[in-house]
Amino acid sequence: MKTRIHEQFEKNFGGNGTFYASAGRINLIGEHTDYNGSFVFPGAIDKCIMAEIRKNDSDKVRVVSLDINEYVEFGLKEEDAPSQDWARYIFGVCREIQKRGGVIGGFDAAFAGNVPLGAGLSSSAALESTFAFAIDAMWQLGIEKFELARIGQSTEHNYCGVKCGIMDQFASVMGKKGSLMRLDCKTMEFEYFPFKPEGYKLVLVDSRVKHQLSGSPYNDRRNSCERVAATIGVEFLRDASMEQLQAVKDKVSQEDYMRAEYVIGETQRVLDVCAALEKGDYETVGAKMYETHWGMSKLYEVSCEELDFLATLAKECGVTGCRIMGGGFGGCTINLVKDELYDAFIARAKAEFNAKYGHEPQIYPVVISDGAHKC
Ligand code: ADP
Ligand code: MG
Repeated sequence: MKTRIHEQFEKNFGGNGTFYASAGRINLIGEHTDYNGSFVFPGAIDKCIMAEIRKNDSDKVRVVSLDINEYVEFGLKEEDAPSQDWARYIFGVCREIQKRGGVIGGFDAAFAGNVPLGAGLSSSAALESTFAFAIDAMWQLGIEKFELARIGQSTEHNYCGVKCGIMDQFASVMGKKGSLMRLDCKTMEFEYFPFKPEGYKLVLVDSRVKHQLSGSPYNDRRNSCERVAATIGVEFLRDASMEQLQAVKDKVSQEDYMRAEYVIGETQRVLDVCAALEKGDYETVGAKMYETHWGMSKLYEVSCEELDFLATLAKECGVTGCRIMGGGFGGCTINLVKDELYDAFIARAKAEFNAKYGHEPQIYPVVISDGAHKC
């Protein structure tokens, strides 16, 4: 990838720049927890966006995207926003840095990546984080790493029309090889936990389906959670116990009860997985992943036929852990698979999914790797 990027850099701008990269991410467990003030548990992966960059002593940014095969130039003022979607991520990062007082100038860049787009691995966060990290380094702005993640998040909010949380950018910037990070979405405190599953592979199985649902299931779930939290008398469901939930059983709808049961269970599962990882107990980690899957399917009701099919098949194939990754209604499952079962599982997942749904799922093996870095 470096060679291909440099070829384009040299062709368009001449000479050499400096290479920076930032990663896509997975979330091992902790789903629909962020808006409940609870935990997520992401890690950066060995798929990244990489850019060669150099200051150009002007007030213009000139960028070549190898993957989109496009060249774009833009200025650094608010009215200079480019129209190309991919360039808006870079422009947004520049603007958000300037809004925070960073004095920057123009630069030349060529970039490419291998984070699949729109598969739930956060290629957009990888793109933002690469440029945020690079600009901070080039102009020696001394921005804290967590703030670099916030710059990416604000970019999505203000320049790309995506009201995302902080997890994706946080994981992309802060990721460490061999570690997952438990982020407390209430306090924004975080802690690294070892994730070195020797003898296992981590693999995403992308169903390549995305169900369009009528109404707003996401807002419905949030509203259910807020109602139950208010009935119990806590700010977030994260602060409630199963006993407290049981005590209000008669005061909430059956549906709201199920939603809250999932969330309270999920908070505990993240903690259980962290404890298991500290002991190197990957079998318990896997069991918790299945519990999350079926909680999302039966209690939170954000799964779909295709994802339940993949989770059932995984179990049949002896896969240690499998669950929906992401908000649900389509996308990927994340699977923890023993090395010796891997090939058979992937072969069956492809063939049997194809036989039933008419297309093969996309397979993405991942290794937990470093986040934003100079390379
Ligand atoms: P994801 O879930 O992968 O983050 P998004 O829709 O949020 O999906 O972001 C994908 C967008 O990010 C693409 O449409 C493109 O604008 C930009 N992007 C991601 N990867 C690349 C890349 N390698 N080259 C150019 N743009 C990219
Ligand atoms: Mg994205």
